[in-house]
Amino acid sequence: MWDEGGSFSLPELRGDVTADLCVVGLGGSGLAAVREGLRRGLRVVGLDAAAVAAGAAGRNGGFLLAGLAAFHHDAAEALGVERAAALYRHTLAELDLMEGLTPDVVRRTGSLRVAASEEELEDCAEQLEAMRRDGLPAEPYAGPEGEGLLFPADRVFDPLARCRRLAALALAEGAQLFARSPAVSVERGEVRTPAGRVGCGAVVVAVDGGLDGLLPELAGRVRTARLQMIATAPTDELRLPRPVYRRYGFEYYQQLPNGRIALGGFRDQGGEGEWTDDARPAAPVQELLERFLREELGVRAPITHRWAARVGYSSGVLPVFARVRGSVVAIGGYSGTGNVVGSALAREAVAVAVGDEAGLTGLFDLVDVG
Ligand SMILES: Cc1cc2nc3c(=O)[nH]c(=O)nc-3n(C[C@H](O)[C@H](O)[C@H](O)COP(=O)(O)OP(=O)(O)OC[C@H]3O[C@@H](n4cnc5c(N)ncnc54)[C@H](O)[C@@H]3O)c2cc1C
Repeated sequence: MWDEGGSFSLPELRGDVTADLCVVGLGGSGLAAVREGLRRGLRVVGLDAAAVAAGAAGRNGGFLLAGLAAFHHDAAEALGVERAAALYRHTLAELDLMEGLTPDVVRRTGSLRVAASEEELEDCAEQLEAMRRDGLPAEPYAGPEGEGLLFPADRVFDPLARCRRLAALALAEGAQLFARSPAVSVERGEVRTPAGRVGCGAVVVAVDGGLDGLLPELAGRVRTARLQMIATAPTDELRLPRPVYRRYGFEYYQQLPNGRIALGGFRDQGGEGEWTDDARPAAPVQELLERFLREELGVRAPITHRWAARVGYSSGVLPVFARVRGSVVAIGGYSGTGNVVGSALAREAVAVAVGDEAGLTGLFDLVDVG
């Protein structure tokens, strides 16, 4: 659905290249890592198995939300109030950085969390209380979308256009980027693809969905799931000025400036089959999305797009930030909310990969695995 504004082509890696930093995966996180490498004056090579933003980074809901996947009060319970609040503020700053770099693909809309039950309304009240306690931007909300909370600092963006913009900037600044070049072996100092090899001083793996397949030692920490969406033809049956999160974030929808409605969700109701590497849209989630569109949102406009992509769910509240195989740094596992956190974590990953741990924020937990 996002793919309406042209293409972005890169060569395939053939033969040997060398770099100070090799970034595996050119989604939003990998491209942020490439950018950070360039900022540090490094020679950077980036590889993608398919194309820039071919995974979830170019196929997601387009919400730019502050915070982690867990709501702030849940994050505070798991991580402690101070750390959760500092993390939230860090992502607010990241939102500003992201908008500052690509202002024309970001819109300042705020976002809504709408309760789907009385119980969830109580949870919204707890979230509001915790956010107010910590001085974070949130307000009560009641309107046509339902009742819940309004987060005025959140934004929306065109995720594919932004990644392509970042890739173009990186190329202009001297990075070497390759498409159709899956990393088939990732080791300290060397990444191999079917037709090439990158000899490098440092490696960052920025693959969210599929991370457990590429680095099996992370399998207990991150698990791949499929998230599915649909989009309609432009319609004026609804007017949604802000993106909406509903039922604890399981459902999410927004209306684009052209009137299309993009709707995702129901992973939890798709059963075990949604824990899959298969990134094709499928029943029963597609049927549930369609029913919600027709019956709950009351939209009759034709469905023009159906899609899915893979994401990583981490076993904890924080995303995966791991050093594997001696010095390869892997990030992922954003549990379905990685547009902002992934971008922030990528800088930390580069710092660790190049041995600059003094520059870490200490907000994420770096673990050594294997
Ligand atoms: C339907 C859907 C809706 C979502 N909505 C939102 C939302 O509204 N807001 C939000 O914050 N998050 C959302 N997410 C989650 C968000 O999209 C991801 O967390 C985010 O894209 C992660 O970015 P990434 O760059 O870390 O990983 P990815 O987007 O997974 O990118 C990884 C890249 O690595 C490449 N790759 C994989 N394996 C290899 C390999 N072996 N070698 C080289 N390259 C490889 C892939 O081709 C891909 O391009 C959604 C996800 C989905 C699927």
